[in-house]
Amino acid sequence: MGNTLLRIENLKVYFPITGGVIPRTIGYVKAVDGVSFTIEEGKTLGLVGESGCGKTTIARTIVLLNKPISGSIYYKGKNVFKMNKKELMKYKREVQIIFQDPYLSLNPRLPIGEIVGEPLEIHGIAKGRRKEAIVRKLLVDVGLEEDHIYRYPFAFSGGQRQRIAIARALALRPKFIVADEPVSALDVSTRASILNLLKRLQSDYGLTFLFISHDLATLRYIADRVAVMYLGKIVEISDVRRIYEKPLHPYTQALISSIPIPDPSIKRKWIPLKGEVPSPINPPPGCRFHPRCEYTRKVCSEKEPTLVEVEPDHWVACHLYSS
Ligand code: SF4
Repeated sequence: MGNTLLRIENLKVYFPITGGVIPRTIGYVKAVDGVSFTIEEGKTLGLVGESGCGKTTIARTIVLLNKPISGSIYYKGKNVFKMNKKELMKYKREVQIIFQDPYLSLNPRLPIGEIVGEPLEIHGIAKGRRKEAIVRKLLVDVGLEEDHIYRYPFAFSGGQRQRIAIARALALRPKFIVADEPVSALDVSTRASILNLLKRLQSDYGLTFLFISHDLATLRYIADRVAVMYLGKIVEISDVRRIYEKPLHPYTQALISSIPIPDPSIKRKWIPLKGEVPSPINPPPGCRFHPRCEYTRKVCSEKEPTLVEVEPDHWVACHLYSS
């Protein structure tokens, strides 16, 4: 294993629900409920799960857009929530996010030069001609043209807009990028080119990624390790090959079984997922997956399974594997 760049420990992010005649907190949406993982420098951890499982909440918490109710995020060994002002500024420079929708994440009123160069001015790194030179190089690095600095977002396709968003994320020379479903809003034909771009930039810029997706096929291409999330919790985590070839958690098995296989001669049993994801306001007791699991038994609704290492570096939270 290499150096750990980011470590998350028992992170809980709850959002209060208010109600009543005199508004008061009547409950919580438990979006992230005790999540821990590490990401090694230069690697990509893929985070996968259905909509509403808490992936984006984790992304936004890492870039300090959400506040957790408890838990810690360590970056280069330092607790982010205990950093002083100077350390926090450095953290905000080195940790950037790429959002899912490039139509919403770019200000339509600003030319590309301003959009990509804005972080350089905010952080006092460059302005004027120096800023322009950096922006021109960034645009070329992401596969656009230098002269695009004068154009506005409406002049670009979805894929080009995501390249602009990537250029902006790179402007501060980050070390860590949270990519929150960066290809989900794009045409299938464009997705591969953006994934290839991110792979190339990872090696050119020495980047570490948390790559969020609801699509395991995408993660197979881009990730080194995969963490599977269900209703605010991680249920399985291992290297990408093991997750695909030997998924152990029944939820991961169902997700894998739904990936189309391009070769019709290869058969795989499809495991349908019963029903909908339950509400994170009142998650099921015990194993949160038990109302949808085909292997559920008594203990599953009574006791919450913890993540255990069932084989070297393969962690699963399921009573089928705990003694
Ligand atoms: Fe299924 Fe029980 Fe395992 Fe949960 S703990 S995934 S209900 S077998």
